[in-house]
Amino acid sequence: MELYWHDACLEHDTGTGLWELPGDWAWLDTPEPHPENAARLRTFRHALAHGPVAPHLTWREGRFATQEELTRVHTPEYIAALHKACGGTERVLLETNTVVGPGSWDAIRAAAGTALAAYESVAAGRTRLAYALVRPPGHHAQRSLPDGYCLVNNAALVAETARRAGRRVAVLDWDVHHGNGTQDVFQDTEDVLTVSIHMRHGPWGANHVQTGGPEESGPANLNVELSLGAGDTAYRRALDEVALPAVEAFGADFLVCASGFDGSAFDPNGRHNLTAAGYRDIGRRAAGLGLPTVLTQEGGYLRGYAALCLHALVEGLVGVGPLLDDPLAYVPDDTQLVDRDLARATGPAVRDPA
Ligand SMILES: [Zn+2]
Repeated sequence: MELYWHDACLEHDTGTGLWELPGDWAWLDTPEPHPENAARLRTFRHALAHGPVAPHLTWREGRFATQEELTRVHTPEYIAALHKACGGTERVLLETNTVVGPGSWDAIRAAAGTALAAYESVAAGRTRLAYALVRPPGHHAQRSLPDGYCLVNNAALVAETARRAGRRVAVLDWDVHHGNGTQDVFQDTEDVLTVSIHMRHGPWGANHVQTGGPEESGPANLNVELSLGAGDTAYRRALDEVALPAVEAFGADFLVCASGFDGSAFDPNGRHNLTAAGYRDIGRRAAGLGLPTVLTQEGGYLRGYAALCLHALVEGLVGVGPLLDDPLAYVPDDTQLVDRDLARATGPAVRDPA
């Protein structure tokens, strides 16, 4: 398995504030780093480079995306505005919790281009599995809107590039948040299947109007909302009973995975209870499809545990392990709601926010 990396991804400086909310908070003694920060990606890299899975991995250098590539999934007006916003000497708040600054344009182009470099290797048959370890993340970025720390939709860019090459592409998103950006990019085409497994969080503002509910599912979009507290068993069942059969029924011959670790039991941005073992199983199942596969890094914000979960996912992808103990996996696996959740994901579209 190949890992794709570009140092410029570290240059996107999201600053400090009240967790994800930038700025000065007079009552807060010590501002916190924005959760989507360079240290988290360095921690992920270190875990894979120095953990016991390291001998199974080959590291490759990414590249910058071109203007033409960025506009495959975004409007030229959006890309121009994004470039301009990154051009000042100060950080700029684009929406509630999404900032850019002087180093962000290089990071954005590096994240997108490195995801494409991973695609190019898989497309050329040099490897079947390639993981783009990049930031900023992308799966909330829509055709003309930033959202939720995301600026350019790296997973959608890979999927669209593969589609143009004649591939029948499925996108599988296991970040704990709905892949609303990817849904938006492909909502007018049935050529790309988008599947998102996520917690029931609903819309969250002008830049995120999608509900993520089954009422938005269609011929080529499948939303699998899971109740708060869903853990390893719920994700295994969501994959085995709904998501993977949908990918196979679609006849996909290329897989793009939007890979987040904010579904872990300890993530401050999620309310799900996955453990490292759960991510190992997700990796096994994704690889078990046997498809040429590109994975892009999305969320995961308690960086030490997210790095352990990434390591476990990669173990599953390459078919080894368990290689690392999980010293924190003690949250009960509450599965009582999963029958109802999966029935809603596959049943008739109804508005039932219960
Ligand atoms: Zn997320």
